[in-house]
Amino acid sequence: MDGDLNERGDSQAQFHVVVVGGGISGLAAAHRLVRDASGVRVTLLEADERLGGKIVTERVGGFVIEGGPDSFLAAKPRGIGLCRELGIGGRLHGVTAQRRRAFVLSRGQLHDLPEGLSGLVPTRLAPLVRSTLLSPLAKVRVALDYALPPRRDEGDESLGSFIRRRLGREAWDRLVEPLMAGIYAADGDALSLRATFPQLREAERQHGSLIRGVLAARRAMRGAAPAPASAFLAPETGMAALVAALDERLHRGSADVRLSTPAIRVHPTPRGYEVGLRDGEAISADALILAVPSFAAADLLAESDPGLAAELRAIPHASTAIVTLAYRRDEIPHALDGHGYVVPRGEGLPILACTWSSRKWSGRAPDERELIRVFVGRSGRDDVMSLDDDALLLLAREEVSRRLGASAAPLLQRITRWPRGMPQYVLGHPERIARVEQALRSRPGLFLAGNAYRGVGIPDCIASGERAADGAISYQLSAMSREPCATSPHSVNDESLIADS
Ligand SMILES: Cc1cc2nc3c(=O)[nH]c(=O)nc-3n(C[C@H](O)[C@H](O)[C@H](O)COP(=O)(O)OP(=O)(O)OC[C@H]3O[C@@H](n4cnc5c(N)ncnc54)[C@H](O)[C@@H]3O)c2cc1C
Repeated sequence: MDGDLNERGDSQAQFHVVVVGGGISGLAAAHRLVRDASGVRVTLLEADERLGGKIVTERVGGFVIEGGPDSFLAAKPRGIGLCRELGIGGRLHGVTAQRRRAFVLSRGQLHDLPEGLSGLVPTRLAPLVRSTLLSPLAKVRVALDYALPPRRDEGDESLGSFIRRRLGREAWDRLVEPLMAGIYAADGDALSLRATFPQLREAERQHGSLIRGVLAARRAMRGAAPAPASAFLAPETGMAALVAALDERLHRGSADVRLSTPAIRVHPTPRGYEVGLRDGEAISADALILAVPSFAAADLLAESDPGLAAELRAIPHASTAIVTLAYRRDEIPHALDGHGYVVPRGEGLPILACTWSSRKWSGRAPDERELIRVFVGRSGRDDVMSLDDDALLLLAREEVSRRLGASAAPLLQRITRWPRGMPQYVLGHPERIARVEQALRSRPGLFLAGNAYRGVGIPDCIASGERAADGAISYQLSAMSREPCATSPHSVNDESLIADS
């Protein structure tokens, strides 16, 4: 704890928490600290010249262009919860009610996604029977889920093997795989079921059948709270509104937010941690929250904690890019009667999905204009990421031309690249996270937050940042209770678990 004057001129000794990383995880952590902690000074270090990390919204010429996430899941409480706390809950909107259709590309054609999906799992027979996506045999195979015995083995398995086991190969290849890839950009045969969709395994375990279990969980949720009007929510003016609201609260809370300030190393000291900056400055922290990608946390810890750094570095990441294109409405022959489409890996294309943003959301494009987001790349397709901008644009334009018939030059085009942007929760991930948590137990005052650990979605990241902040506050209180003895705060700490353990 240092005795510097704080912004209010308060000479009282303050516990200094440094948050490294100004994406949604770090911002949520810093916000929780300025809101809930007393006697705490907060510094947030962000390498980039702007806050938000993966959240990047550009507003230009009446278009709202999201370079990263365009919404968050309504069902996970901390997205909507934080927006309400920030006073922007009333400015959230859901996806457009009409045309709540989505498509899957299969054998070169767009097929309706069958209605009645609960997450990844089809739960209604009639839409499935009507669907042109699956063959008659594949539909019978899906229904077999009701009769197949559950697996008794308690071990983890890949998401791909689980879904093939329950619903059959074709349902995996054409239906579930592309939906999963839209979230994780992953290879489903590498993805850990326990780390990504543990509720699906639980459904099988408890109800003997995946579909029966998913239906039961949905009934239970309906009883608990009214279902949100839309599964996805976003601020009307784009996701950056969330970042701006957090920035404003940090400013009001006198947090020291430092942009263009990359941390390059962290070292434990007798009283806490020292954070080395690129310009040579060193900042002392009583507690430290690393809210950066896990490979960046590994770099920071490489010298002082090579073991922990190695675990963090081993979490793989996939690289993707978003190409956004705007057209005049009359330049797109396709009816755009839905929200877009996903592309199964089996199609062999470098394209992951295509969202018709101006149809999915209101207010994203001026009248008579359309905004199309093409997701390029996925795990195992790093070749696509080495393409230069012209080649990426060509790829996206060819896709839009082939599928939607738009061959005119776009009115506007943007590329947002996300090298190593999506952590992959592969088989062994839960065990790795357990080892990381174990390592953190002997590093009091150090907390990790972010998308690499226990959830990649915005609400999960918010929860991870807030949990890290709660850990730092508990650590401060335990340090204060030991203060008369003036021992090192490193002596006791049961709180230094990973953010959302
Ligand atoms: C293309 C794409 C689309 C997505 N779509 C959705 C969606 O629709 N809905 C959803 O819920 N989720 C979505 N996600 C996932 C979600 O956006 C991310 O998981 C989340 O934003 C990650 O937040 P974060 O704060 O953990 O990490 P980041 O946003 O990566 O933030 C980390 C920050 O740390 C900074 N940093 C790194 N190293 C240092 C250093 N040494 N010193 C200081 N600062 C440093 C970085 O500059 C960055 O600002 C999407 C992700 C991608 C890539």
